[in-house]
Amino acid sequence: MLYRRRELDLPHGELQTPVLFPVRNIGKRSSDNTPSYVTTIPDFSAAMINARSIRNRKPMWNRLMNGVSLREELDVPENTIVFADSGGFDFVSEELDTTPADTLETQHQLKADIYGTVDIPITRENRTTVNQRRINQNIQFALEASDHHDCDAHLLASVHGYDPETIRNNIRYLEKHGTFDGYALGSLVPIRTDYKKVTKLVIAARQATDKHLHVYGLGGLVYQPLLLYLGVDSFDSSAFIRSAGNRNYLIPGFGGEELQNIEDMDMLPCPCPVCGQRKLDDIREDRNALTQHNLWALATELRRFRYIVESGRDVEHYLDLRFQGNEVTQRAYKIAKQQVRGLA
Ligand SMILES: [Zn+2]
Repeated sequence: MLYRRRELDLPHGELQTPVLFPVRNIGKRSSDNTPSYVTTIPDFSAAMINARSIRNRKPMWNRLMNGVSLREELDVPENTIVFADSGGFDFVSEELDTTPADTLETQHQLKADIYGTVDIPITRENRTTVNQRRINQNIQFALEASDHHDCDAHLLASVHGYDPETIRNNIRYLEKHGTFDGYALGSLVPIRTDYKKVTKLVIAARQATDKHLHVYGLGGLVYQPLLLYLGVDSFDSSAFIRSAGNRNYLIPGFGGEELQNIEDMDMLPCPCPVCGQRKLDDIREDRNALTQHNLWALATELRRFRYIVESGRDVEHYLDLRFQGNEVTQRAYKIAKQQVRGLA
């Protein structure tokens, strides 16, 4: 098993890993709607934000430049750990409108604890030459960021590639030519249903460095235990928000359940602080409550995994049980297990 626990010493405090960074939509038009969770769910004293969308949201940016702190804007305590990515995912559809130095400056002004370097995602639809150009560009962006970086915040180089060789070579190259606190794997969301490929890429990254490894965008209920098993240190997810939008109720150990499928239940199948006292009818129309419950579900999944490890139980046996209910995820886990065992 590659699972590991570490502690990061960051400007706003220490952070125990592995950890999930719940995505905060702040700055995104129409959707500053992540309900507060930082003080109610102790596991999540961290947040993932998009530096670009905050920078581009003029009224908010002006407030931030006039003395309001980002954490006040987020309505979270000042010691909340913030990971600011570059907003690279927006560059799938929009023109690149920043430079590594500018993004770094924004991340610094936001007083983030962890900075992700500027990146342009690759996609399967692109021609190979286009993807290859982007992969090389991302390496240059990361090295430029490394040249400009001179503060206590951690700098993670964004790494992209659709084969293990590329991932391995990129990380080794960056390790040799730049100074990074860790690496962040991107462009996995478009291929997330290809568990075999994702698993191979993550293992390649894990093997290429002992430093912090983050995976962008894959922190949902199914991926979370898989990534923990593969030794990933952190991940981020907006799945809990999207699921709530689709009236999808996450159940630890299982997955998403559409509320309409359990309409006949009176009490909810979860005793978390959101659901414990409520009836299904109360939560159906309350999107915030649903979002908060979904975060509790992710916290439960994370705690359960830790419990299995800490109590000396067999993690692989636990995951055998954890994934047996769904053919697709069961196969995914089997592949991951074979690959991890192959390393021994
Ligand atoms: Zn609940």
